[in-house]
This record gives sequence, structure tokens and C-alpha cells, in this order.
Amino acid sequence: MKPYDLIVAGAGGGLIGAIKAAQLGLNVLLIDASDDFIESCNTSRTTGMFPGAGTRWQKNQGIIDSPELFTKDIMKKTKNSADPIATKALTEVSVELLEWMADSLKVPWELVTDFHYPGHSVDRCLTVTGRKGHEVMRPIWAKAQQDKKFDFKPSTRLVDVVLINGQVHAAVVEAKDGTRTNIETKNLLLATNGYAANKELVAKYNAEISDAYYHGSPHSMGEALEIGTKHGAAMGFLDAYQGHAAIAAHANTLVGWATVMQGGFIVNLDGIRFGDESAGYSEYAAILSKQENSTGWLIIDRDIHDGSMSFKEFEVTVNSGAIVWADSVDELASKIGVPSSSLEMEVANATAVFEKTTEDRFGRKTFEKVLKAPFGAIKLRPSLFHTQGGLVVNGVGAVIDKQSKPISGLYAAGGAAIGISGHGSDGYLAGNGLLAAFGFAYLAAKEIAAKSKN
Ligand SMILES: Cc1cc2nc3c(=O)[nH]c(=O)nc-3n(C[C@H](O)[C@H](O)[C@H](O)COP(=O)(O)OP(=O)(O)OC[C@H]3O[C@@H](n4cnc5c(N)ncnc54)[C@H](O)[C@@H]3O)c2cc1C
Repeated sequence: MKPYDLIVAGAGGGLIGAIKAAQLGLNVLLIDASDDFIESCNTSRTTGMFPGAGTRWQKNQGIIDSPELFTKDIMKKTKNSADPIATKALTEVSVELLEWMADSLKVPWELVTDFHYPGHSVDRCLTVTGRKGHEVMRPIWAKAQQDKKFDFKPSTRLVDVVLINGQVHAAVVEAKDGTRTNIETKNLLLATNGYAANKELVAKYNAEISDAYYHGSPHSMGEALEIGTKHGAAMGFLDAYQGHAAIAAHANTLVGWATVMQGGFIVNLDGIRFGDESAGYSEYAAILSKQENSTGWLIIDRDIHDGSMSFKEFEVTVNSGAIVWADSVDELASKIGVPSSSLEMEVANATAVFEKTTEDRFGRKTFEKVLKAPFGAIKLRPSLFHTQGGLVVNGVGAVIDKQSKPISGLYAAGGAAIGISGHGSDGYLAGNGLLAAFGFAYLAAKEIAAKSKN
């Protein structure tokens, strides 16, 4: 059998790489460890936020943006620690990628303007109705299955790669029954996500979040890191991860930060705030972990509830019965078991900051509204969403060895590769997980197609 031009391992962001490569005429095989990746991959679990720097949806609303401005935001959020090559590549490809997804894959993008994600200096996140990754992935996958432009093997795990004279020669894959096969290919894209489901690796590299609940794909076991480094790849940013401080403890569902960015705030079991929530949801996970029982209460009102219902996951949270409602702050405090005086003080503080009669003691610039009855509270637990360190790649997603040379035929994207969030948890900007997953998969497909022509 003729070798494949490309095997893509992992069908989250990797699906985009497979589709693009097949469109460009390559003979492609996509494999996934899961028997139902469309339900289980991290990408489907997301709120479907993809940042684009200068898209036509922004232009239609008079928003001026550019890769340079996006880069500035990334560097500010990461304190200049984001990898500059990956940042340049991904900010520059963002518009082409998202417009191609709209034009070629018929993704019905909408620009999110009803609240502002922390750290983005302009509104640049695109999503679809329902605000869920699943709603992006499902139609793309349905169309790809109809078109049959590439081969697909589910329940097939990548376990190794064969290199001959430094060039990718075959992917070693394992079927569900443990049978191993070598499938010949000239190129391999590692799109198997990071290692957030691998407790040992998380404890080693991301200790501060290692006790937190994990909300991502069970298949993110870190094989890309293991396989890449075994064959000499350089790795980086392994301490980087995306956390999230707003998972409802009631049923482990996503509450989302739109609640906070519309004026909600978080108190601990003493009814007291403990930081600037508007800094970002990722870093707030570790901050929340340090509170008693790793628990907080998100305080909202009916307007914030209504303004968050555009997120399917928030609706799921509401329907699970996670919100405690009360007609007064005093009643709410009593229902959730925190001192009434503390909660009254925090509501008064938020009002005063909103009205600019005082400054917030944690530096939160504003609370977007004055909360009014009925008041709601959701019990929160911190969680880990995905890891963002991985194999070092160049500007087209080619994996780099320890001598800074590309390993011929080996590519990585998304959680398998380094991201653009610098170190730790506080460099994460909304959308930068999916941008790294889809962006590098798209860039790698184009690069492999261009090389195949020569
Ligand atoms: C609740 C939640 C909300 C989020 N919201 C956003 C958001 O709105 N915007 C954003 O940018 N980021 C968001 N993220 C982060 C985002 O999920 C990730 O950054 C992104 O999905 C990673 O994509 P990926 O392709 O690397 O991994 P995945 O989407 O997980 O795809 C990897 C695939 O590889 C398969 N696989 C794993 N190991 C192997 C193997 N050895 N062989 C073969 N296949 C394998 C898996 O089954 C999986 O299907 C969110 C995360 C969570 C948990």
C-alpha cells in the first residue's frame, strides 16, 4: 500500500488539519484514540471561542484589530513570556483560518460583543450559537464524513513514530484490542492534546492545580510529549495550563466567566472576596484552590443570569439546580451559610466601585452593574481544563529538536505543542487554546502540501 502523505493523530483541532490537507490534494489518514471523539475531545467541550485579529466580523462592527495588537495583548498577559515564533504565526494566521472555516466549512461565526473577555483589548472572539465547541465540530465532522476526502480510524491510539534517517517513516498505532501496526506515512501531525488527564505528569509539572477537578478529555494522556521527546524533540512551557474557577460544584458543569464579566463576583465561605476576578478565569482557579475547602460562591443577579443563557453550558448549569436564589442579600447569605454582614459589605463595595465612589481593594477596575434582587449564588470549585506546554514547534507547526532543527515530517498542534500563554496559569487569554489547536493544524497542513509539491 502506498504510504500516506499525512497521518493526523487526534481529531480535535487535528480534524481541521486533515480536512485542509485533503483539500490541498494530500492522501490523509486521521486516527483518534476515542470511539466517539466528537463527544469526548476537549475541543467539543469548549465554549467555542476562537480569537481572530482583524476578521470581517470585527470590521462589520467597526472594530479595528490586527495581529500586532493581538500580539501586544498576549505579551501583556504573559508578561512577555509567550513564545514569539508561535505567537507571530498564530496571530497572523487567525483571520485566514477563521474566514476559511466560514467560507469552506460553513461555520456560522458570530462576534462576541455582549461582554468583554479579560485581556483582549478589543472584542475578537468568534463563536457560534449555543457557544459550545460541539456546535462547531459536529457539522464540520458531518460534512467531512459525507465528502470522504480522507480515511478515518477511530479507537486507534498513536503510540510511537518510526523515523528512518531522521525522517518520519511510519506511525505506530494500537487498536482497542492491543494489536500494534506500523502505518507508513511521510508526515505525522501530533494533535493528541496535552497531558491533563495524566495525574502523574500534572503533579510533576503543574503541582498547584494537581488536586483540582479535571474537566477535559480523558484521552489527554501526554503521548505526544512522550513520543516526541523519545525522538529528540525539544519541549517547553510545561508549567503552563488553563485552569477555570467557575465550575459549579453542584453537578460539575461549566458556569463560565461571562457571569463575572457582567458584574458578578466571588466570595469565600466567610462571604468575603479574595481577589480581582476580572484578571482572568484561568489564574483564578489556583487562587480559589487556596480558599477553605477550595470553595467559593459566585454572586449574580437575574440580569447576569439572563445575559449568560446564550451559553448552552450555563443553561445546563441552571437546569441542574445549581443556583440558589433569594430576594435579599441577607436571605441569600443565610441560604448559602455565609455571614450576612460580609456579603452585605461586598455588595455595597461592588456598588460603590461601579458608581466610582471608591476603588476596589483588589484593583478590580469596575463591576459592570449594580446587583439587584433577586440575587443568585452558585457554589464553585476550581478545575483544570488543559495543559499548554508541549513540543517546541516552529512557525508552521514543525516539531523542533534540541539543536533547533525541524524533525523531518513531524508536526504538532494544540495541547501537544507549546502554546502562546507563557508560563503558569495567568498568561491564558480566552480562545488561545483553540487558536493553537486549529491554527497549527491548519499551518502544518499547508506546509506539508507545499513541500509535497516540490
Ligand atoms: C470546558 C472547557 C472550555 C474551554 N473553552 C475554550 C474556548 O472557548 N476557547 C479556547 O480556545 N479554548 C477553550 N478550552 C481549551 C481547549 O479545549 C483546548 O485548548 C483545545 O480543545 C485543545 O485542542 P486539541 O486538538 O489539542 O485537543 P482535543 O480537542 O482534546 O483533541 C485531541 C484528540 O486526540 C485524541 N487522542 C489523545 N491521545 C491520542 C493518541 N495517543 N492517539 C490518537 N488520538 C489521541 C483524543 O481522543 C482527542 O479526540 C476549553 C477547555 C475546556 C475543558
